[in-house]
Amino acid sequence: MGVLGAAAAAGGIGLIGVIIIIALYFIPTIVATSRKVTNAGSVFVINFLLGWTLVGWAVALAMAVKSKTPQVVVVQSPIPLPGCVKSGTGLLPGQQFCSNCGAPRSSAN
Ligand SMILES: [Zn+2]
Repeated sequence: MGVLGAAAAAGGIGLIGVIIIIALYFIPTIVATSRKVTNAGSVFVINFLLGWTLVGWAVALAMAVKSKTPQVVVVQSPIPLPGCVKSGTGLLPGQQFCSNCGAPRSSAN
């Protein structure tokens, strides 16, 4: 006999039992807000309105634990420098001659 059973045996569910049930009911919302998922609002709406159906509760929980939108890592490529006239190879700063064909850089004249 668990906490709920003991509380029920003590006469009704009791305040603690109600709190536990509410906490269990809103686990999807709690998970969503603690994970700071972007659709936490949707999770709460589904949890609140449809959570009493087991399906709605499961859907809300699934949304809550859904992996977040992957962060787009923007790799800043260096600004291409004036390169070789012949091969178009980009040259490093200070590099005066092409490493491919040995021609002087285009901006050097
Ligand atoms: Zn070249």
